[in-house]
Amino acid sequence: MNALLEARTVVSLGSRILVAQGVSDAFGHLSCRSPERPDRFLIPRSLAPGLVTPDDVVELDLAGDPVSPALGAHLFLERFIHTEIYRRRPDVQAVVHSHALPVVPFTVVPGAKLRPICHMCGFLEGAPTAFDVAAYAGPSTDLLIRNAELGRHLAEHLGGASVVLMRSHGYTVVGSSVQEAVFHAIYTMKNCEIELSARGLGEPAFLSAGEAETCARTISSVTGRAWELWLRQCLPIEAASADG
Ligand SMILES: [Zn+2]
Repeated sequence: MNALLEARTVVSLGSRILVAQGVSDAFGHLSCRSPERPDRFLIPRSLAPGLVTPDDVVELDLAGDPVSPALGAHLFLERFIHTEIYRRRPDVQAVVHSHALPVVPFTVVPGAKLRPICHMCGFLEGAPTAFDVAAYAGPSTDLLIRNAELGRHLAEHLGGASVVLMRSHGYTVVGSSVQEAVFHAIYTMKNCEIELSARGLGEPAFLSAGEAETCARTISSVTGRAWELWLRQCLPIEAASADG
């Protein structure tokens, strides 16, 4: 299998894992930087993530345009989230954007932050407060990152962090691989679920900065184990179709 086809396959599998784990529903998207050219990336055409096959994954340049215009594929409006992060973060090899409901409360309370609450989520240390698109696009938008300028502001707000919240919308995570980005997307949601649950008991304690750093280092070496399990928990597309 050549490198591009392999990357397309990994993007399609990651997309389906995100659905199986409750991070994506009919919406959201996962991309990876091209293994052949750092100024290109691979992302599904505009399609529900659970239906993505390798053939649905298109190659775009950092302007958000298809490398192969003949494809004529309908593209995600919010592909500029991906283009502008890839431009500014050479360390990033994969990006996930999600609207997972447990995360959204953290985007709507002014000043709220994602803070690592368990040992699996040290990567959240340093995540900024929510990006507010209205600060750049005014009070009457659909909140989507529809162009490169908004994508640039979002990428600048992300800075060197792993996760950026998006007000009244969702969140975007990055990783050094598709496997790591998928792990970050899933465990950002789990961290939010734990915090929301813990707050019913009282004010929770969070990891110290030192604990977060050490935990992140330890956990980053075992994300492959999670990927293998999550892959096997995905319903094959053929079976999903047969079930209607
Ligand atoms: Zn979105």
